[in-house]
Amino acid sequence: MTSLPIASRVKRIKPSPSSVASARAKDLRAAGRNIVDLTIGEPDFRTPDNISLAGIKAIVEGNTRYTSVNGTPALRAAILAKFKDRLGITYGENQIALGGGAKQIIFLALMATVENASEVVVPAPYWVSYPDMVLANDGTPVIIDCPAEAAFKLQPSDLEKAITDRTLWVILNAPGNPTGAIYTESELNALADVLRRHPHVHVLSDEIYDEIVFDGKTIKSLVTVAPDLADRIFVVNGVSKTYAMTGWRIGYGVGNPVLVAAINKLQSQMSSCPSSISQAAAVEALTGDQQAIANMRAVYEHRRDLAISLLQNVPQLSCKTSDGAFYIFSGCKGVIGQRTPQGNVIETDQDFALYLLNEEGVAVMHGGAYGMSPFFRISIATSDEVIREACERIAKACSKLTP
Ligand code: PLP
Repeated sequence: MTSLPIASRVKRIKPSPSSVASARAKDLRAAGRNIVDLTIGEPDFRTPDNISLAGIKAIVEGNTRYTSVNGTPALRAAILAKFKDRLGITYGENQIALGGGAKQIIFLALMATVENASEVVVPAPYWVSYPDMVLANDGTPVIIDCPAEAAFKLQPSDLEKAITDRTLWVILNAPGNPTGAIYTESELNALADVLRRHPHVHVLSDEIYDEIVFDGKTIKSLVTVAPDLADRIFVVNGVSKTYAMTGWRIGYGVGNPVLVAAINKLQSQMSSCPSSISQAAAVEALTGDQQAIANMRAVYEHRRDLAISLLQNVPQLSCKTSDGAFYIFSGCKGVIGQRTPQGNVIETDQDFALYLLNEEGVAVMHGGAYGMSPFFRISIATSDEVIREACERIAKACSKLTP
């Protein structure tokens, strides 16, 4: 086979670790192993029927052509109304970018702005894709540790220290993947004060889990508490997580019209527009009956309580509650240095994840993938039975370790 030179931008990134872990679990299962997979980052619910039917209707009625780059008028109106409702801000039509998922919108926002010397501040633990997206676009990720003692949240003094002349973006994600951390209004105000001192710094606020918040808490967006910074805050959201629509691939962002025009220009050369059928379904998601959101939230909350109560019984783990999203990020310091029944020493959280997989057939994500060790992430987007079975297996695997 002739060798095809692959660009350095591809060589410097890695495939998404969650996709890799999920594929490994599927392969083992296909090979006959009994695997409990907790790596999954998507709702286990079906897309609500009213939304699916809107997609089917779009097909039957022939709404199967290209749309504008930033979507159909109906979808733009629905997105604007949603942002007005959630953020209290009236954005214009020239402030919406539409993509094949929030992931594509974030990638395009970085592609539209990041160049060689640009720095992007990424608080850790982070969603696995942020640093690689920055690298793919020739930027430098600047990782700030946000440890469990700081409730996994970006501290204003750490942000202040990380900012240089080259800082272009700070990425905020709340509720956060993998920790579920959310910011209070006063914490956001303190971050906004730092940003006011550095007018060249922009914020990419990934709010994809904003409807999955527990214990009756509500979350505020940075742009709501600091509307004076609105043209420096690009708010990203989408239908994947809230409406169990990961396969439909619709995400969007709102903010500075100059940024949005640049994203739309890239999108016009990249995919023209997201699927017209998915757009029709997204309109129904955003404007139709919203009861499904509350139902799913209640189920996630119940599962969170179940998983935490089970993991907290395992002496080597330190597992605090989560305020949102559908993950639990548990410390596993207690297993580091311990010996497996095969005589191997667990030196890292990656060793631990591999041990869980080999010993008890439980697939989890190791904390290092999210920039913080020693931790591991489990997804609670699965049934009570699976959560119970997985936590029992984790406890059993830990009980077999010796000092
Ligand atoms: N942002 C975060 C924090 C995520 O966890 C994910 C998906 O895992 C995404 C964005 C991507 O969402 P979408 O399906 O809209 O591309």
